[in-house]
Amino acid sequence: MMTVNSIKNGVVIDHIKAGNAMKLFKYMNLEKTEYRIAMIMNVSSNKKDKKDIIKIENGIDIEYEELVLIDPEITINIIENEKVVKKIKPQLPETVINVIECKNPRCVTSIEKYVDNIFYLSDRENKVYRCKYCDEKHTVGE
Ligand SMILES: [Zn+2]
Repeated sequence: MMTVNSIKNGVVIDHIKAGNAMKLFKYMNLEKTEYRIAMIMNVSSNKKDKKDIIKIENGIDIEYEELVLIDPEITINIIENEKVVKKIKPQLPETVINVIECKNPRCVTSIEKYVDNIFYLSDRENKVYRCKYCDEKHTVGE
């Protein structure tokens, strides 16, 4: 089995819910980068569920914080010289712009395409965001 420190320098996204690795991969546009990437899927973790892991060699500059909007349980490990030098548990941001799309067909953001999709965090514990314009609910990870 590959271990976390099997890359020399880079980033390991761990504790991805099984099946979500591809979503994160697409969100980060990784198919368009030149980084060496390993996607490991359906790894048995200590907990009852299986998980996915993404390893990105040298991919330090990628914006990782927003990934928590796709999978709220992820952990970001920064690897230097084959050692984890930093572990980040990203927190849900208070406001997100043009990441979540409002599903309400009567919302101004659905009617007027130039209006930014703005969602604010209304319930951190339950990971609930609401549209700034129409109050439409969006629960992260659902
Ligand atoms: Zn809306």
